[in-house]
Amino acid sequence: MALRQISSAAEMQAAVMELRRKGNTIACVPTMGYLHDGHASLMRHAKTSADVVVATIFVNPKQFGPNEDFTRYPRDLERDLGIAEAAGVDIVFTPSPADMYPPGYSTSVSISGITDTFEGALRPGHFDGVATVVAKLLLITMPDVAVFGQKDWQQTLVIRRLVADLNIFTEVVVVPTRREPDGLAMSSRNVYLSPEQRALATSLWKALQAGEQAIAGGECRRAAIELAMQEVIRSNIPDAVVDYASAAEADTLHQPEEFAVGHTVVLLLAVRVGATRLIDNALVQIPQ
Ligand code: AMP
Repeated sequence: MALRQISSAAEMQAAVMELRRKGNTIACVPTMGYLHDGHASLMRHAKTSADVVVATIFVNPKQFGPNEDFTRYPRDLERDLGIAEAAGVDIVFTPSPADMYPPGYSTSVSISGITDTFEGALRPGHFDGVATVVAKLLLITMPDVAVFGQKDWQQTLVIRRLVADLNIFTEVVVVPTRREPDGLAMSSRNVYLSPEQRALATSLWKALQAGEQAIAGGECRRAAIELAMQEVIRSNIPDAVVDYASAAEADTLHQPEEFAVGHTVVLLLAVRVGATRLIDNALVQIPQ
């Protein structure tokens, strides 16, 4: 099937309805475009889990705060179409903001609890925007499977909550983070980094490794694990602003003083390098 681009929600819904009627299963990969190999790995995974892969490219204004980078967020549709096609995508859905949020649009999906901390606390309204757009994209593309990246760990928890709470029949799949050779997590926002900042940005990966090593060495006190990560950031990027360098229970984001043996912990980082805000995370099990 040659790559097909659809820009209207109504046409997209009609296309998936027809595909489903013919017995095809659908996988959806929601993105904001400016695709890199992290996105492509989600698309390749989607290709193994359904007959037809729909990738969505939509820079969702509702998930950006008033002082965030919505207008300067990088965009390159032509390049994206090539990457999507090479990764096995069949349909690229590219709605406009006016198509997603026409005049009179009034609905917002808001998820409590899991959104109280980390990105949810620092970016008010962000997860309402994410939950709203993902709910819409899942209703428009009606996928059997939707694929998301571990890179945005809290977002995956929000989406799992959304799908469970609203009885959406889609299965949520989470794919590991793709990294550059020096460990930096691939991100559309990495283009904002100057060469000097780009070199320093690998410290996030080093900090996650320091947290992992602390845990592997028997540390289960949260403060000590967090200190190990914070020290790596502070010593490598002295003028970085650390929004958080924290450890939490992976599934709930609860933060006990000590993690229990056998539990899976997520190490979470959000660091501002100059004007660029980078996030990363790692999953680690507390050894027996
Ligand atoms: P975005 O375009 O940044 O909204 O990301 C779209 C999807 O790609 C989300 O599910 C992200 O978690 C995922 N993603 C972003 N970066 C990576 C990466 N480096 N590795 C794997 N998935 C990623």
